[in-house]
Amino acid sequence: MTSSGIVIVGAGQAAAVAAHALREHGYGGRITMLGRERHRPYERPPLSKAVLVAADEPRLDVLTHESWAHSKIDLLSGSDAVALDLVRRHVRLADGQVLAYETCLLATGGEAVTLASVPPGRPGVHYIRTLDDARRLRAALEGSPRVAILGGGFLGLEIAHSALSAGASVTVLERAASLLDRFVPRETSAWLASQMRAAGARLLLGASCSGVHSLPRGRSRLSTSSGDLEVDEVVVAIGLSPNDALARDAGLQIAPGGGILVDASCRTSNEHVFACGDCTSQRRPGQAAPTRLESWQNANEQARTAAAAMQGAPLPVPPVPWFWTDQGRHNVQMLGLPASDLEYVRRGDPANDKVLWIGHRACVPLHGIAINAGADLRALRPLFERGRPVRLEDFQLDATNLRAWAKHMQADVATTASITSL
Ligand SMILES: Cc1cc2nc3c(=O)[nH]c(=O)nc-3n(C[C@H](O)[C@H](O)[C@H](O)COP(=O)(O)OP(=O)(O)OC[C@H]3O[C@@H](n4cnc5c(N)ncnc54)[C@H](O)[C@@H]3O)c2cc1C
Repeated sequence: MTSSGIVIVGAGQAAAVAAHALREHGYGGRITMLGRERHRPYERPPLSKAVLVAADEPRLDVLTHESWAHSKIDLLSGSDAVALDLVRRHVRLADGQVLAYETCLLATGGEAVTLASVPPGRPGVHYIRTLDDARRLRAALEGSPRVAILGGGFLGLEIAHSALSAGASVTVLERAASLLDRFVPRETSAWLASQMRAAGARLLLGASCSGVHSLPRGRSRLSTSSGDLEVDEVVVAIGLSPNDALARDAGLQIAPGGGILVDASCRTSNEHVFACGDCTSQRRPGQAAPTRLESWQNANEQARTAAAAMQGAPLPVPPVPWFWTDQGRHNVQMLGLPASDLEYVRRGDPANDKVLWIGHRACVPLHGIAINAGADLRALRPLFERGRPVRLEDFQLDATNLRAWAKHMQADVATTASITSL
C-alpha cells in the first residue's frame, strides 16, 4: 500500500482547483489525484462550443503550466477508483493498487444520462461529456451530416448551434412543450426557440423519440411522435447523473435526488472525506432541499471551500450561483436559482437580443437572466446577495440608469436597515 496525504478522486475542474487551493493554503503534504481519463484536468465548457467549431482546438487546461508545477500533484491518469474504505481510510484502484489517505476529496463529476435505445458507443451515437467525446463529434460533423439532437436543454442547444455553424443540418427534439421550462420564464424560452429556428435548426417541441433503428454506415432512423427521421448522427443530451456510486457504496450519505450530500464546508457524512463539484448535493441557505448545481462556477467555488475546510482556514463566502451558456452568437447568463413561484419582470426587448429579467418573490430578486447583458447582470449582483426587496417598477423603465438604480437600491436597503434598528 502506498501512503498518501490527501487523495483526490477525479481529475477534472473541481479536483484541479482544489489541489491548487490546498497549496495556496500552505498544505505541504502529498497530493495524489486519480483520474479515469488520460488527460490532465481540462475545462469542459468549450467542449460543446469552440472544440466543435474553432479552426484550432482551444487551450483547455484548468491550471496554467506554472500553477500545475506549483501544485506538485501526483497525477495517476487512466486510474479508476473502485472502492473507498472509510474505516481503513484507503482507496482501491481498478488495477488493484491501494492508496491510504489522511483526507480524501471526491471530485468525481457526473456522467451523461443515457437512453437504452441509443447506447453510447454505437456508430453515429454521441454523448458529450469528455474531450474524447467532443473530438469524435467534431470529426463526425465534417461533411455536413444530418444530425438529430435529443434534448433541448442548454447543452443540447449549444451543440445544435455549433453543429449548424459546422455546416450540419440539425433537428432538435425536446419532449417538453417549451424549452427549459423549469429554468426560465416563457419569454426567455420563446427567445431561445426563435434563435434556434433562425439559425436554421428544425426544432420539434413536445416531441418524443420512441425508438432508434440502426441503418447501414452508422446512420439511424428515429421513430418520433412527429414521424420518422433519418439522420447520420444522433447526439443525446438529456441530463447529467452525479458520479456518487463510490460514495454510496462506501456508506456515505447521498441526497434524496442523488449526489454526495455535503454541508456548507463540503464535508460529507464522514469527517475525513470531502466532496466538491458536479458529484455533490449541498444544503444552501433559502433552499428547502439540498441542491445539485452542475456549473463551472460551482465546481470552482466548492473546490476552494473544500480546500479551506481541509486546512482549517476560514471558508469563502458562498457566492450567488452563476451560470453562462453561449447560444450561437448570443451570451446568456443566469444569477441565483429559479423557482416555480417566481414572478419575472423584464428590461429591454427580446426582439433586440438584449434583455434582462429579474425573477422575484415579493420584490426580492432571486433569479436574474441576461441575454447579451452580462455586465448589467453583474451590476445587480449586490441586490441578489442582500436578498431584500427592491423597487422593480424603476428597473423596467428604459430611462432608468441601471447601475445608478442598483446603487440606489443598495443604499435604500442600508437606510431602511438603519431606520429599523433605531
Ligand atoms: C460539454 C459541456 C459544456 C459545459 N458548458 C458549461 C457552461 O457553458 N457553463 C457552465 O457553467 N458549465 C458548463 N459545463 C459544466 C461544467 O463543465 C461542469 O460543471 C464542471 O466540469 C464540473 O467539474 P467537476 O470537477 O465536478 O467534474 P468533471 O469536470 O466532470 O471531472 C470529474 C472527473 O472525475 C473523473 N472520475 C469520475 N469517477 C472517477 C473514479 N471513480 N476514479 C477516477 N476518476 C474518476 C471523471 O472521469 C472526470 O474526469 C459544461 C459541461 C460539459 C460537459
